[in-house]
Amino acid sequence: MTRCVFRRPMKGRPTGRPRLYAAAFGLAFLCVSAQAAQEPPAIDRPPTRADILRGEYGRYRANNDLLSYHLEVRVDPQNKSIAGRNTIRFRMLRDDTRIQIDLYADLNVDKILFGTTLLKYEREINAVFIDFPSTLKGGREYAIDFHYSGNPKERGRFGGMAFRTDPQGNPWINTACQGEGSSVWWPSKDQWRDEPEEMRISVAIPDDLVDVSNGRFDGKTPLGDGYTRWDWHVQYPINSYDVSLNIGKYVHFDDRYEDMTLDFYVLPGSLEGAKRQFAQARGMLAAFEHYFGEYPFKKDGYKLVHVPYSGMEHQSAVTYGNRFANGYLERDWTGVGISPKFDFIIIHESGHEWFGNAVSAADVSDMWIHEGWTTYLEDLYVEYTFGKEDALKYINAYKSKVRNQQPIITQRGIHRPPPQDMYFKGALFLHTLRNIVNDDDKWFTLLREVYQRFKYHNILTEDLVQFFNARLGQDLTPVFDQYLRRAALPTLELVFNEPERTVAYRWKTDERGFAMPIDVTAAGKSWRLLPTTDWAVMANSAAPDAFEVATDRFYVNVVKR
Ligand SMILES: [Zn+2]
Repeated sequence: MTRCVFRRPMKGRPTGRPRLYAAAFGLAFLCVSAQAAQEPPAIDRPPTRADILRGEYGRYRANNDLLSYHLEVRVDPQNKSIAGRNTIRFRMLRDDTRIQIDLYADLNVDKILFGTTLLKYEREINAVFIDFPSTLKGGREYAIDFHYSGNPKERGRFGGMAFRTDPQGNPWINTACQGEGSSVWWPSKDQWRDEPEEMRISVAIPDDLVDVSNGRFDGKTPLGDGYTRWDWHVQYPINSYDVSLNIGKYVHFDDRYEDMTLDFYVLPGSLEGAKRQFAQARGMLAAFEHYFGEYPFKKDGYKLVHVPYSGMEHQSAVTYGNRFANGYLERDWTGVGISPKFDFIIIHESGHEWFGNAVSAADVSDMWIHEGWTTYLEDLYVEYTFGKEDALKYINAYKSKVRNQQPIITQRGIHRPPPQDMYFKGALFLHTLRNIVNDDDKWFTLLREVYQRFKYHNILTEDLVQFFNARLGQDLTPVFDQYLRRAALPTLELVFNEPERTVAYRWKTDERGFAMPIDVTAAGKSWRLLPTTDWAVMANSAAPDAFEVATDRFYVNVVKR
């Protein structure tokens, strides 16, 4: 299902609020050239053909709309191999004879069947262009069986598909492919815009092992040859990188949260630690349901699955490798004493169920919708669980991780994950937005509305900007653009004239239309200033040092002269 709320540019003019959209496009374009001048070489390099094949929503992706996947594989721990097929059902959106599916070049395409017809295909790097003998008709539904096999290579930060062993020497095989893409281990439409409405995952593994995948467990069937097939059913749209196999000597325990199931899978040696640590899942659910509404994948249930890497937001089967201890890998992640109060991976990765998995970005360039929001969700968890003071401390501690060297939103249509600022600056931007709104009831209502409006959709930043502008009745586009599409923070310039007893003030930003309120305190009085990028002057008797700006609630630079 293509779930873009906001389709462009290939679909022609967007509807509604054309002025805002036009502004967003112009800025996105400007931003690319500004980026080229400022950025370090890694991001500055031109895209490769592989980046474009993977990132672009080109003709052979845009001509169809995914309906479902059924991935049936056999995983052989001895040979470190995978073999099987993906049955891909899709609806054609226009007449065409070719579609693009992705599979890394180091895996074999065994055959691609359309009914009983063997299809021709062409491979280019990690893309597979599949040709049909006659025109597929727009509006009609079709299915192909894509058979493949091979030995996936371990790659990327989380392993891609990794054949490892547990401390007892048993097979422990996990997939985690967010950056590298689902096509490192299975044939799929490896992009962010289109998701199937549902998926079945069937995994045959040696009889003594357990497979935990996404969705609802649908039973296991001994195959009589030493292998057992484990069947899972995902009853919601799912990002392809979220699809996961976790194969090992898992033990299982469970719990309930209100009317939903919680299932936990860990290696036997970690059972005690897990029973203690995973109790935090309940508090996580309570906090996020409080702010946003019900857990988004209730029919599939919520799972935590023990893995050898730190963790990943695999939908309804969140993977966990945080050593059954609070903080992040036993560190005080933000360094101010708040992080040791909770398990970072349980809170962060599960937060993605709301932002990342339910509300998803339609292009990797907008990945702050996953990471900036979920980092902000950590702070909401802290506020709900430990109070507002801790939350303020926690979010402000993230400033030390921000670089402000590249825009958070990168060039669209190229597979290139945005810089790390998408996490921390993204969260600090949302915190700033809360203080622009300056009314907690209104802010929390707005958060819930954003989530409810966009859940199960793949959106772009423009959708969020339009939504906030409409709900708040003001044009915050330049504010979003300065924080997300520009590298530099807004700087509040204050020029004191002590003989005249005045202070002049303005925002120094790249966005000419930038106007953002900010709270100041001087001479025992607090008030809200409304600076723009033009100078304004007001009476002031306070010395520069005694003129305070609420930088704990607004993430900005302040320069006093
Ligand atoms: Zn994350």
